[in-house]
Amino acid sequence: MDFPPFCPYCQSRDVVPRATGLKIFGAIGIVVGAAGAFKASLKALQVLQSGSVALPGIALTGIASAVLTAMSASALGCEIGTKAGAQLDRMLLGNRFCRSCKRSFIYL
Ligand SMILES: [Zn+2]
Repeated sequence: MDFPPFCPYCQSRDVVPRATGLKIFGAIGIVVGAAGAFKASLKALQVLQSGSVALPGIALTGIASAVLTAMSASALGCEIGTKAGAQLDRMLLGNRFCRSCKRSFIYL
């Protein structure tokens, strides 16, 4: 029961899935996530500098945790951005594109 959708405008079966918004908003998500990661890294560095005694081992641990925080923050930002982008794409642009009449529509 998985028929390909047909176009509600011209009844054509020449319909392709589209995901234009996905990449754009996913990229925005990465940027937002990276910005958050940069902040987190700065905070970690401030903690490092405020310490009166910084042994190489401790400093390395601080930097490693800052890097890990940065990586996870950008991954999280990307995931949220991609999900929001997919939702926006469905709401505003439609997720199917008719190649006969060049219109997009929503098919669930
Ligand atoms: Zn059409």
